[in-house]
Amino acid sequence: MKPRVAVFSFTSCEGCSLAILECENELLDVINLVDFVRWREAMTETSDEIDIAFVDGSISTHEDVRKLQEIREMSKMLIALGACAHTTCITGLKNRFGMSQVKEIVYGPDGAQFDTIPARPLRAVVPVDFELPGCPIDRGEFLRCVRDLALGKKPKLPNYPVCVECKRKGNVCVFFKGMKCMGPVARAGCGALCPSFGDYCEACRGFVDNPNEESHKETLTEHGLTVQEVMNYFTLFNAYDESQI
Ligand code: SF4
Ligand code: SF4
Ligand code: SF4
Repeated sequence: MKPRVAVFSFTSCEGCSLAILECENELLDVINLVDFVRWREAMTETSDEIDIAFVDGSISTHEDVRKLQEIREMSKMLIALGACAHTTCITGLKNRFGMSQVKEIVYGPDGAQFDTIPARPLRAVVPVDFELPGCPIDRGEFLRCVRDLALGKKPKLPNYPVCVECKRKGNVCVFFKGMKCMGPVARAGCGALCPSFGDYCEACRGFVDNPNEESHKETLTEHGLTVQEVMNYFTLFNAYDESQI
């Protein structure tokens, strides 16, 4: 029997769930491996019997916490799908403010009635079996992940920096064009997508294990960034900080 797969979304643009739909031709390969039983963006049927739950979005309301706990209880495996679920991505930027201030900025004087808590990744609320990084996810990585899970294997991520993929592609480093880049500390796996199109890496896939943060902060400072700007580079996609919660 094929594993029963569900896709859920919390606070996010839902671009990572959409990226699965955009697999198009490859989606047929995925359907040969698993059965989708619940996925709001793609189907009307629904089921609570789930082997693998893919969940995108950060957890940013009390209701989100309750619903994620429910999903965890009904699923044998739970996979964080994309940067919002993995690092909180840009949804975590609100954690720089007090929640009363956030509500007032977004909703005005009547904001107090809305339910909001500091954004957190899934693993801060429930046990997570695997985290697929990226804003959005890399479709090839998603397909490998599904294949591995369907075969009972734990998926793996590259543990080397984006610079390695960038060098392999023969790109001119964007530091030579006056830009600043997070490639030396960011986790590879996207094929150095941004530098390959002339832009800099913002570490949307999070960091490699044990990144040399201090050394890279020094490099960014030497290239003209202030301490605050360096922090902004490090936290744009990676703002979640356990100590804030
Ligand atoms: S990680 Fe990016 S693409 Fe995916 S849901 Fe979050 S904001 Fe959207
Ligand atoms: S452009 Fe960025 S990713 Fe590429 S080599 Fe330079 S620092 Fe590394
Ligand atoms: S180059 Fe950096 S910001 Fe761009 S997709 Fe890859 S990890 Fe994300």
